[in-house]
Amino acid sequence: MIDRNIKELFPILNRTIYGKRLVYFDNGATTQKPKQVIDRIVQSYEQENSNVHRGVHYLSELSTEAHENARKRVAEFIGGEQEEIIFTRGTTESINLVARSYIEGFCKAGDEILFSAMEHHSNMVPWQMAAERCGLTFKAIPVKDDGTLDIDAYKKLLSDKTRLVAVTHTSNVLGTVNPIKEIAAIAHEAGAKILVDAAQAIAHTKVNVKELGVDFLAFSGHKMYAPTGIGVLWGKKELLEAMPPFMGGGEMIDHVTLEHTTYGALPYKFEAGTPNYVGSAALASAIDFMDSIGIENIHAHEEMLLKYATEKLNQIERVHIIGNAPEKSGIISFIVDGAHHYDIGLMLDKMGIAVRTGHHCAEPIMTRFGISGTVRISFAVYNTTEEIDIFIEALKKILNLLR
Ligand code: PLP
Repeated sequence: MIDRNIKELFPILNRTIYGKRLVYFDNGATTQKPKQVIDRIVQSYEQENSNVHRGVHYLSELSTEAHENARKRVAEFIGGEQEEIIFTRGTTESINLVARSYIEGFCKAGDEILFSAMEHHSNMVPWQMAAERCGLTFKAIPVKDDGTLDIDAYKKLLSDKTRLVAVTHTSNVLGTVNPIKEIAAIAHEAGAKILVDAAQAIAHTKVNVKELGVDFLAFSGHKMYAPTGIGVLWGKKELLEAMPPFMGGGEMIDHVTLEHTTYGALPYKFEAGTPNYVGSAALASAIDFMDSIGIENIHAHEEMLLKYATEKLNQIERVHIIGNAPEKSGIISFIVDGAHHYDIGLMLDKMGIAVRTGHHCAEPIMTRFGISGTVRISFAVYNTTEEIDIFIEALKKILNLLR
């Protein structure tokens, strides 16, 4: 059970929008931040601020310790090793790192990459770009009418040329939770590696890299109650060790001469430049926040909200939910007969309800379903059934106007 006072921990949730108390259903885009995370950022700047790793003085040691403890905290949270945690700006940068370093480092013309048709652009475009640069081909795993991945088609698409399978844990449009363990086992059987985009999973369900049996995992802090500008790439140590660096600069070196550079050890080899040490400390605080509630409790609460909202939306005749997979996360996309998603989003906003509209950076899945966009509601731990009731009443009013 989630404490009904949880909203009090999130300062922004107490504000009003156009005179109405905010109903925030745009958590798939970014979550709000609890006071403890905001306070952690302030503490970093007021009490600790100093560049990490390079200093001998007190403050530098303090912020280095906070940064490295955060790495440890993340490693524990996902079941990886500390040196396997690469801090990045977010999911997008994590995926680009692998597309640059792994694909360019190890693949050759004629090799293949598979990604699914339900990916966010950030788990498609980097592969398309890498394929273009290196002469690889790429193929998309199709999605069935109910929003599940077509696993039979996936098996047929795999070949001895497939080097990497890139798939999302949870679709940011359909809410589909993919059978990652099974997908990973199939990829490995074919001799391919697997990268999982966990951007929409990390704050909503247990994500353990060992249990999932994956090779790379990417996620963003800002979708898990932490600030923007900090994210993670986890990769298997032996792969990361073999991969060439992504960017060159300070921090990532072992030794530099005018002629030649040798690179540092993991994880620093992939962290050129001053890292976001304030962000990493705040990310650790966000993990503390989630752990204090328990990821299983968060999951159960959001599952209840998903069921409740799905039932209510299905009772509205003109509403059609896109994505009805049996395994779904707290994300619902829908279209409405005779009303444009954009108009609905604008009108909901005037009633204090924040939703997202459009293609959600996943144009190919829109094309797959023959639509231009959806209205998307997405839940976090602080949402309630009362908010869903407010949203449903507001939607009904809007649909009466938009006939
Ligand atoms: N992958 C998925 C499934 C997402 O939903 C998002 C963002 O919405 C991303 C990747 C990109 O995340 P970021 O913009 O934080 O890099």
